[in-house]
Amino acid sequence: MRVRVLCVVFTILLGDFPGTFLGNPIGTRVGISPFGQATTAYGQTSSKAADEDTVSTDTAGNEPAREDSAKKQLEVIVLGNAQDAGYPQAGCDRECCKLARSNPSARRFATSLAIVDHANSKRYLFECTPDFREQLYLLDQLAPIDSGRAKLDGIFLTHAHIGHYAGLIHLGREVMSTDRLPVFCMPRMKAFLSSNGPWNQLVDLEQIQLKKLAAGQILSLGTSCSVVPFLVPHRDEYSETVGFEIALNECTMMFLPDIDKWEKWEVPIESLIARCDMALLDGTFFDGSELPGRDMSQIPHPFITESLSRFKKLPVGERRKIHFIHFNHTNPVLRAESDANRQILELQMHVAEQGQRFRF
Ligand SMILES: [Zn+2]
Ligand SMILES: [Zn+2]
Ligand SMILES: [Zn+2]
Repeated sequence: MRVRVLCVVFTILLGDFPGTFLGNPIGTRVGISPFGQATTAYGQTSSKAADEDTVSTDTAGNEPAREDSAKKQLEVIVLGNAQDAGYPQAGCDRECCKLARSNPSARRFATSLAIVDHANSKRYLFECTPDFREQLYLLDQLAPIDSGRAKLDGIFLTHAHIGHYAGLIHLGREVMSTDRLPVFCMPRMKAFLSSNGPWNQLVDLEQIQLKKLAAGQILSLGTSCSVVPFLVPHRDEYSETVGFEIALNECTMMFLPDIDKWEKWEVPIESLIARCDMALLDGTFFDGSELPGRDMSQIPHPFITESLSRFKKLPVGERRKIHFIHFNHTNPVLRAESDANRQILELQMHVAEQGQRFRF
């Protein structure tokens, strides 16, 4: 049996990309602070004793000594938590998006993560969204790198829906003109990018180098980090769809932003949750009432209400691993203080927030 060790989790939220923090990661203390005056929050726990919080902070919530050592570690940063189209969404005149238009602090980027390997000065992106321009800037603010270095050391793509890869446009001649930036993707996704414009121009001009992944195969990113893709059922018009199991030091994080209903998958999601220390899971829609006039069976996702009733049977330690992400503009969890958020928190699960950081 795999030996689990303590995972260190760190959370921060930024005033520039604010939002009400609604869910604590496993065993953490949480602070919300203006940009540059971060209230840090540390926690330490193991997956077997997830409710233990063994670390204390000073009265200001800061702990400089830990900050120094934590910098040497691996960090996951949530660069966006919205569905592909972001929040607000183009063309939406409903209350949901009016709110975000009148209050810029409520806006959210499309779902993306960064993994920062502080010890080796490397930064990897998971998903390259239409909000890439702002998300790269956000990453630069949170985890800057030395000038002269490549901004990114690799990009991992789950599938060919617009919110997950369209940001690659920023790597071309018109913008960054990157130099053989590794883009890790599955075989169909690789073939799609290689044979369709404008993406194949990035390949031809060697601005990106497509690196083929295989389901179940471990890709090492150094001694302390590795990535394993796993196939999931989704609307696979142009590519397969994968989630990623990411090993970070002795911990494991699951990133699964897009999947059809849980029941469509032969793998019980609970078995994957059991394998990991933290799971970022598809929370696109809260329930089936969000898109009046549209056939939601054409865009299947596990409703959060369905996930809650499934996961509430799990022990609390398992539930605490779960962080929903990839929220459609209609999803009430995007709005602070919503009843939807309350329901999630009551069951000891979480909402992944933009700007949230986890250290391992
Ligand atoms: Zn998506
Ligand atoms: Zn809307
Ligand atoms: Zn999708």
